[in-house]
Amino acid sequence: MNEKPKVAFFDFASCEGCQLTIINLEEAVIEVAKLVDIVSFREAMKEHSDEYDIAIVEGSIMRPMDEERLKKIREKAKILVALGACACLGCVQRMLNQWPIKESLKTVYGDEMKDNPYFANFETKALDEVVHVDAYIPGCPINKDEFVQVVLALLQGKKPPIPDYSVCVECKKKENVCMFEIGKFCMGPVTRAGCGAACPTLGSECEACRGFVSHPEENAHTEVLKKYGLSPEGILQRSTMFTYRYREKKEVNSNE
Ligand code: SF4
Ligand code: SF4
Ligand code: SF4
Repeated sequence: MNEKPKVAFFDFASCEGCQLTIINLEEAVIEVAKLVDIVSFREAMKEHSDEYDIAIVEGSIMRPMDEERLKKIREKAKILVALGACACLGCVQRMLNQWPIKESLKTVYGDEMKDNPYFANFETKALDEVVHVDAYIPGCPINKDEFVQVVLALLQGKKPPIPDYSVCVECKKKENVCMFEIGKFCMGPVTRAGCGAACPTLGSECEACRGFVSHPEENAHTEVLKKYGLSPEGILQRSTMFTYRYREKKEVNSNE
């Protein structure tokens, strides 16, 4: 009988909510556990092994020592999966990249901390800015059904089934009233679907926790936002929470 693939979970800067989502899979986790051997999962078990085939990594990379650790994980894994918005994008902690680290430390902790050498090289990165990533599971937190689908696809050697159309598609199918129609702001037009338009369905604006689709119509989105009376500055502020990665890239390109 063939050995089952060994799976190990790792975490970096994160709230660990994506791992918690996996623990909360209930019956589905038993089905997944039948197909793989989970050899390391700090949140759920105390055993640990450095022998694994698939590394599922949560969290963003913030320190040089994180980069070294991630590279070692990559060396051992045949497949590396980025789990959640922290790992895929840098998530909310990436907002920190907007300012020099000293300035942030001073604002949050006062003068005494601003020159603390421990924080001197802090910069938030997504996993794929440090190592090659084979598959992404977006969201903050991830969608647990999508997690199972991605694991099953990887085990079968198939492409993980992550949608590449916008949240608006799912939102329209649910016949929700559009947030713009009631004077709110929404990132749905440029955001990757797969959450079932969770936020607009519950009356909240989409903040793009799943990141952008591959080819977002940002200009068209900006036109829509302007039509509803949102200023370009306001748009930038509102599109920073999960997606500063995209803005940062643009700012770097425009400075080159
Ligand atoms: S993506 Fe969200 S839920 Fe998942 S670890 Fe990061 S902050 Fe927590
Ligand atoms: S509420 Fe948001 S996701 Fe829904 S249709 Fe309007 S812009 Fe799109
Ligand atoms: S609606 Fe937007 S913010 Fe809400 S879960 Fe979906 S992608 Fe994330």
